[in-house]
Amino acid sequence: MAAHSESDLRVESFPKVARQGDVCLVRTSGQASLKSVHGEFQGERFSIAFNNETGTYEGLIGIDMSTSPATYEIKVIATDADNRVYLNTLSLRVEKVDFGMQALSLPPSMVDLDAKTLERVNQETRKLEALFQTSRNERLWKNVFIRPVEGEISTGFGLTRIINGQRRSQHTGVDLRAEEGTSVLATNHGVVVLVDELFFSGKSVILDHGSGLYSMYFHLSEALVKEGNLVRAGAILGRVGSTGRSTGPHLHWGIRTNGARVDPFALLKMGTLSNLTNNVRQKD
Ligand SMILES: [Zn+2]
Repeated sequence: MAAHSESDLRVESFPKVARQGDVCLVRTSGQASLKSVHGEFQGERFSIAFNNETGTYEGLIGIDMSTSPATYEIKVIATDADNRVYLNTLSLRVEKVDFGMQALSLPPSMVDLDAKTLERVNQETRKLEALFQTSRNERLWKNVFIRPVEGEISTGFGLTRIINGQRRSQHTGVDLRAEEGTSVLATNHGVVVLVDELFFSGKSVILDHGSGLYSMYFHLSEALVKEGNLVRAGAILGRVGSTGRSTGPHLHWGIRTNGARVDPFALLKMGTLSNLTNNVRQKD
């Protein structure tokens, strides 16, 4: 049934070589009109959709912070109006990152959890994991992502935390320093899928940007949106605070793409790397 043709389907990734925690924009072009396009990476399907601004098909893949350094294959499969199937693959090398360590002291009650608190934390973790499985197919995000607050990074992405002398988990987002009450902006267009008060994260807002991409905003003093709201890039989601497990006012900003825990700053860089057309405004 299928006429496999590599030459008719061009596949590129930005960046060309990835690092642990990166986000790659996969861009496909070559056919005037494709009926369906999707990609596969590490055995998982990811969605690829037509982008009017670039006239190409695009999708995102996340390189989880714990991905083993190696060369992986990105596969793109497309079908045209006559049901001809096109397939092309691209090798993607993933390089190791030395994320470093951070020592900090916290009240013991926030670290060595009692049984009841542990149960609450486990329940919240399961709720979030379930949420990350239900992304809408429709792509809501555009290529330019916005930094939610201007503050400098107080705790970088991927750091292994040594809390009260014990080695704990890696930091899965970035902490941005900001005054209590500073507006927290949506990094891109999306739907509010969670507004909740969580043990570690405090007052939290999560946006679903479609096609497997989520952004998270933690430790807010207040949330100004409701679950189900459709928000535009730059919309005010809430205010910076210090709720949950936090040592002072800051925004914890996290990104998941198809389940992978990635560095939010990789999204900010993506627009530049992919050579966007001039009608798309660049944001620092
Ligand atoms: Zn954090």
